[in-house]
Amino acid sequence: MEKNTFLILENFIGGKFVPCPAHIDSYDPSTGEVYCKVPDSGEEEVDAAVQAAKEAFPGWSARSPDQRAQVLNKLADLIEGHLEEFAQAESRDQGKTVTFARTVDIPRSAYNFRFFASSVLHHTTDCHQMDHVGCLNYTVRCPVGVAGLISPWNLPLYLLTWKIAPAIAAGNTVVAKPSEMSSVTAWMMCKLMQEAGVPSGVVNIVFGLGSRAGDALVGHPEVPLISFTGSTATARHITERSAPYCKKLSLELGGKNPALVFADADLDRCIETTVRSSFSNQGEICLCTSRIYVERSIYATFLEKFVAAARKWKTGVPSDPCNKNGALISKEHLEKVRSFVALAKSEGATVHCGEGINHPDLPKRNINGYFMAATVISGVADSSRVMQDEIFGPVTCVSPFDGEDEAVAKANGVRYGLAATVWSRDVGKVHRVARRLQTGLVWTNCWLVRDLNLPFGGMKNSGVGREGGRDSYHFFTEVKTVTIQH
Ligand code: NAD
Repeated sequence: MEKNTFLILENFIGGKFVPCPAHIDSYDPSTGEVYCKVPDSGEEEVDAAVQAAKEAFPGWSARSPDQRAQVLNKLADLIEGHLEEFAQAESRDQGKTVTFARTVDIPRSAYNFRFFASSVLHHTTDCHQMDHVGCLNYTVRCPVGVAGLISPWNLPLYLLTWKIAPAIAAGNTVVAKPSEMSSVTAWMMCKLMQEAGVPSGVVNIVFGLGSRAGDALVGHPEVPLISFTGSTATARHITERSAPYCKKLSLELGGKNPALVFADADLDRCIETTVRSSFSNQGEICLCTSRIYVERSIYATFLEKFVAAARKWKTGVPSDPCNKNGALISKEHLEKVRSFVALAKSEGATVHCGEGINHPDLPKRNINGYFMAATVISGVADSSRVMQDEIFGPVTCVSPFDGEDEAVAKANGVRYGLAATVWSRDVGKVHRVARRLQTGLVWTNCWLVRDLNLPFGGMKNSGVGREGGRDSYHFFTEVKTVTIQH
């Protein structure tokens, strides 16, 4: 490929596109070819963005929530107006199918702005009287200042806007760093800022590696708050790096999400949804199911039907609407995901479909793409790394259980605690099990139904803090108690 055919991204600082002298290669996962150059930003670029955000803060935070909401709504309109362009770009950059980007990523990105534009209008604060001392106490909430936002590659614009929208709705200004592997749609969104009426410096986007640009943002003394979505390992670095500054942290991390299928479940509905929850977006969603525990009396029937359904979950060229899955994000990630299947085999497990059995049917152009078919494994011990570590690919394991207590113990037997699904028609059982599960989210007889008003986040190694309507507002503001004596 000629050099000048690459898409070359620039940082967005103080309302302007600013070129960066060094770049990182970004690949089209469906072909394995470099097609884009992402700025390799460091301390200098991050500092320039933080200064621009600082300058913009007094003006932006002084606007009323209503005035800010108008800008957010306009941005949502503009993203929707360019939905198809964004969907095509997200698919090319990330490897996901165009259909998924068109129906999930981009509509939700626009909705994130719309939701927080509305939500910010409805918060109230507390007030309490202390008549015996003649005092009235009330709370006020103020934006924190410059928010540092760091997002991963799996749902690029979706997760980035999930942070930008509540941060600016609450009156903060932001410096955001998307994943170096999927930066294109964030850069495209910067082109809409001016038309949306976002004042210069309110949203700054600095592209680059986590170890350089991300580290500079987390270590910047004038960024008092970091909202991070990514892996548990990176969260550890961020916690340590930010500790000397006592930064406010929100950490949305990995998962090893169980599905508990009881004998009284609606099996057809359960299988249809659990195939989707295991393999959607190539299994590259933090909420994807990766351990399916099935009550022993229906285990054989479930496994047979589930494998048959998984075989129909087609993987191939992302632009083909017949395909449910596209390519994984990178060669390294594909190799990592494959290594888990190899490990399962070496431990005596059975691979029923997918890796090593049915291969995606690919045209010549895509032969070097990072494709892997939906893979179902059984016979893996709960103690295996395959059942303990986050794989984050199209791989799911099926295993039997006996009774409610064992189901809960198995579900909770990992260091993660993000999401679980429970399949049963028994309301009492559903309530009991949901209460005992150590996860931030429990979906019963469904998956990925999200009410953005309610808290989102994980327990244990899956995160610290919650995001959502009120939770994000609380995170992106500081509360102050004012006491007045008359
Ligand atoms: P990652 O931790 O490697 O990277 C996430 C972001 O952090 C990227 O922008 C990266 O550049 C940056 N980063 C890396 N090192 C950094 C450092 N030292 N300092 C500052 N920033 C740094 O994660 P990933 O591989 O991009 O994403 C996959 C992970 O994200 C999975 O574990 C997945 O479960 C998790 N995830 C969680 C949620 C959630 O809401 N809980 C949602 C999506 C993804």
